[in-house]
Amino acid sequence: MDWQQLSKEQQTVAKVLQHAIDRKELAHAYLLEGPAGTGKHETAMLVTQTLFCEQPTDLGPCLTCRNCRRIASGNHPDVIWVVPEEGAASIKKEQIAYLMKEFAYHSVESGRKVFIIEQAEKMTAQAENSLLKFIEEPHSGTLALLITERIHQLLDTIISRCQVLSFVPLSDHAIIRRMTEEGLPQPLLKPAVALTHDYEEAARLSRAEWFAEARSQVLQLLKGLCKSTEAAQLYIYEKFAPNFDDNQKMTVGLDLMLYWYRDLLSLHLNRREEVVYEDQMDRLKEQMLSFSSDQAVQAMSLILDARKQLDAHVNGVSVMERLVIRLGGIR
Ligand SMILES: [Zn+2]
Repeated sequence: MDWQQLSKEQQTVAKVLQHAIDRKELAHAYLLEGPAGTGKHETAMLVTQTLFCEQPTDLGPCLTCRNCRRIASGNHPDVIWVVPEEGAASIKKEQIAYLMKEFAYHSVESGRKVFIIEQAEKMTAQAENSLLKFIEEPHSGTLALLITERIHQLLDTIISRCQVLSFVPLSDHAIIRRMTEEGLPQPLLKPAVALTHDYEEAARLSRAEWFAEARSQVLQLLKGLCKSTEAAQLYIYEKFAPNFDDNQKMTVGLDLMLYWYRDLLSLHLNRREEVVYEDQMDRLKEQMLSFSSDQAVQAMSLILDARKQLDAHVNGVSVMERLVIRLGGIR
């Protein structure tokens, strides 16, 4: 994460922090709050490295100098990360006591100290109270970064002493960009994001073998359907049913089918950028020649009907079987 990327994903947060750093007017404590997967941890890292970097550029820290590397590996003496201990439900008073003891000394090297508390809502009331005293009487050169997904579980007195930075959910576009940077399999990204609109969920799906298989089976089923209803039915029994063995998975299957017909509609409407199955463009264009936009809308409404039946706990395979017959009727 660099400042440019942060500006794209979290414009307000980036503006506030960059402005404060440029003017050397950082507050003593910031509370980074918002949903999972919105870049709070990365932002804390970015701010800290920017402050300590030996050769910063306009984009941000160099990531290669000794300070950048030590911060990234958690080995900088003037940067302390507090996280709940492995498997522990809370951040204990002793962890905060350790932090304060460390901060009672002057910084080891730079005249500046930063501490970061992850999952800050997990502090016990005692831990929060001892931290409160600490941020009420800040030492100069000390910066506190508190990170939470559940701001309402923190004491009001803590919140009011921090400058709150609210992270917003990422746009679908930003989620896809991030997943692309992580090298996740390209054909799975758009379907995963269309299903979840959530970075962590989409990344999890894209890594799941089941999902890759599900996508390719849905495409196979649709191909069979272009030939004949019987071919599609056979495919359901032999291949589809064993993989989509509960209604939750079948719902994903239906959504993946829905995107196909929505893609056909998008192409009819010249909205190519909205196509989910980008790697299937040739097939989509071919089918589009014999499949009108009205037919696509009709197919989508049949799939939405099927989805309602799944929600009403009708058996997934029989829902799919009936759907395929009805979709066959559109041809
Ligand atoms: Zn550096």
